Amino acid sequence: LALAPRRALPGLRRAMASRVKEDEKNERVIRGLLKLPANKRCINCNNLGPQYVCTNFWTFVCTNCSGAHREFTHRVKSVSMAKFTAQEVTALQGGGNERAREIFFKEWDSQRNPYPDSSNTDKLRNFIKHIYVERRYTGERSSDRPPRGKV
Ligand SMILES: [Zn+2]
Repeated sequence: LALAPRRALPGLRRAMASRVKEDEKNERVIRGLLKLPANKRCINCNNLGPQYVCTNFWTFVCTNCSGAHREFTHRVKSVSMAKFTAQEVTALQGGGNERAREIFFKEWDSQRNPYPDSSNTDKLRNFIKHIYVERRYTGERSSDRPPRGKV
């Protein structure tokens, strides 16, 4: 009789074990993504070893940039502390810094607009505003500008 309640455990254990496996797998994939050249540096300030993901744009960013993103109510998750769902991992695999660079940094010129210094919160905030909020460098704006302005 005393053994009866234990019958429920194997199923539960299995469910928990597969959940842990899933988390481990996701973390492994993300760690792998962090090794890609474009993801080795923060997309915003070029600092080495980003530890956060901005899930609005599927980018890898440093701690300071994650704080600046939060100010714009962009969602950020810590790679080491947060759990990622399978969907998030898939989105990150399809995204990442290389892909985001093609979209948000399309017309960005590092000569004219250098990377912000990550210790300067104001500069970081402005940079993120220009890139993602105002979308200054996506190349979309040129289409609603009259062509004669370019000549
Ligand atoms: Zn950064």
